[in-house]
Amino acid sequence: MTRSIVNVSSSTVSSWFSITFLQPPTLFSFASRALLRTLEQIVEAPPLAVASLDRSLTTVPICPGAPFGMFEFDDGVRASEQPPRATGRHSAASMKAGRRTPQSLREIALGTLAAEIEGCRACPRLVAWREQVARERRAAFAGQEYWGRPIAGFGDAAARIIVLGLAPAAHGANRTGRVFTGDRSGDFLFAALWRAGLANQPTSSSRDDGLRLRDCFVTAAVRCAPPANRPTPAERDRCLPFARRELELLDGLRVIVCLGGFAWDAALRLCDVRDRPRPRFAHAGELAVNAHITMLGCYHPSQQNTFTGRLTEPMIDAVLARARELAEPESRAATARANVAR
Ligand code: SF4
Repeated sequence: MTRSIVNVSSSTVSSWFSITFLQPPTLFSFASRALLRTLEQIVEAPPLAVASLDRSLTTVPICPGAPFGMFEFDDGVRASEQPPRATGRHSAASMKAGRRTPQSLREIALGTLAAEIEGCRACPRLVAWREQVARERRAAFAGQEYWGRPIAGFGDAAARIIVLGLAPAAHGANRTGRVFTGDRSGDFLFAALWRAGLANQPTSSSRDDGLRLRDCFVTAAVRCAPPANRPTPAERDRCLPFARRELELLDGLRVIVCLGGFAWDAALRLCDVRDRPRPRFAHAGELAVNAHITMLGCYHPSQQNTFTGRLTEPMIDAVLARARELAEPESRAATARANVAR
C-alpha cells in the first residue's frame, strides 16, 4: 500500500466516512459497501488513478434516492440526539475471516465512529447524570476538567482480542475520557494487559499518557456513566449498536473477553447468539460463537471483586493468556480438532 495515496485523498475519505456514518439505517448498508469498495480502490489504485477517483468521490451522489440537504458534507461530526444505528446486515457472529480492511483505513473509520459516539445525547437520563457528575466533581478531582461525554473504545485497530466492559465509571472514564482509565478497576485491568503483553505500560492515567495496546481493543457495552453503574435495558439496547459497529470494523476479531455478566449478555446480543437457554456467564467460561470468534468470561475487575479476592491477578492473567491462545489460528484449529475428537 502506498501511504501517500491515502494521504492525497484523506480529506475526501474523511468526508466520505462522515457521510456514511451519518446516514439513517436504511441507507447505511448501501453506503458502507460503497465506502469499502471505494477505499479499497484508493489503496490498490495506481497513483495516476487517484486523481480521478478523488473527483468521483466529491461528485457522485451516495444514494440517488436520498433527499438533498439530509447529510453534513463537512468533516465535522454533529452532536446527535438520535439513537446510534446498527447496520442491520452484519454481526460479529457473521463476520468472516476473509479479506481484511487495510490498517490505516480501519483507524480512520474507528476515529470517525469515536467522534460520533462522543457526540451522542440519545439517553436523557444518562446525559443528565454524566454531565451532573462532571459539573459537581469529586473533591479529590475538584481541580480537574471532567470529560463528561460518552466514551469510545480504545486500542489497536488490528486487534484480535476485544475486552468488553459494562459502562464508564462516573469518576473514572467519565473524568479522563478513556475507557477504564482513572479508577481502581482500570488500574487492575491495564496492569493485567501489560503482564499479558497486550499493553506497552502497566498504567492508564489519561488520554495522553502514551499507553498503546497491541492486538487488543478495550470497549464497553454502554458509553455513558450510569447512576449506580446500572444502565436500564432500554439504554443498553440504544447504545449497543456502537459496540456492534466497532466489532464490524475490527475485522480481525477472534476473542471477546467479557468482564462480568452484563458484558457477557451484551456480547451474546452483539454476536446474535439466540440459544435457549442462554449460555450463562462463568469466570473462564468459553463460548465458540462461530469458527472465528470465541467469547471468554472474566469476573469484572471492580473493587468489590478485586478487594474481596473474587478476582485475583493470577485469575485474570489466566483468562488473558487463554485469550491470546485463542487468537492464534493454529490454536483455534487445534481446539476445533479436540472438540471433534470428543
Ligand atoms: Fe448515546 Fe450510548 Fe450515551 Fe445513550 S449511553 S447517550 S446511546 S452514547
